[in-house]
Amino acid sequence: MRVLVIEDEVRLASTLQDLLELDGYTADVCHDGESGLDNALTSIYDVILLDVMLPKLDGFTVLRRLRAEGNATPVLLLTARSETGDKVTGLDSGADYYLTKPFEPKELLACVRALVRRKPELRETDGVTCGDLRLEQSSFTLSCAERSVRLSRKEFDMMELLMLNQKLVITKENLLVKIWGYESEAEDNNVEVYISFLRRKLEYLHSGVKIKTIRMVGYCLEYPES
Ligand code: CA
Repeated sequence: MRVLVIEDEVRLASTLQDLLELDGYTADVCHDGESGLDNALTSIYDVILLDVMLPKLDGFTVLRRLRAEGNATPVLLLTARSETGDKVTGLDSGADYYLTKPFEPKELLACVRALVRRKPELRETDGVTCGDLRLEQSSFTLSCAERSVRLSRKEFDMMELLMLNQKLVITKENLLVKIWGYESEAEDNNVEVYISFLRRKLEYLHSGVKIKTIRMVGYCLEYPES
């Protein structure tokens, strides 16, 4: 799970980042509204923590532009201001939840968990299905009929991304950023290696689902309609 923190108070931003990482999330930080919006628009985040008073673009504007672009990533607004008016503006702009500073770390983490659960594709069950495949988050297994295999963390993340975006092409760049992170030195080659691991596992499972390469772009899942 990847969280974007858009907060100009450097110390608070880094506290939030530590808190999230201790809780198992990967967290990226932006200190102004403009770079925050650019990052948020990449759609690689599961949750966005957004401060209201920000340099360059305020939080409400960031949120409105994000929603105007059709980006539905859950947003938790953070603000020092507690007036009802601001809450209404925030929720009207498309925020999913509102937290007033100062807040307890526990409260923040509970909100983040609630927002992650709200993601429609993860809401109903622990598993994701696609064609004859089923991916179980709790056991990191991929199964097809009677057969199943255990996936490594990166294989799991990659397969999950492909299965949650069935029939959409996932670019190599998106896979790299989402799975290895912005600051990683991983290259396209790493993606290809993991795709080949996954293909081998799909063959072992005798699954009808194939990972199709879209030349110069990326990958998508292909499977016979049942
Ligand atoms: Ca601020």
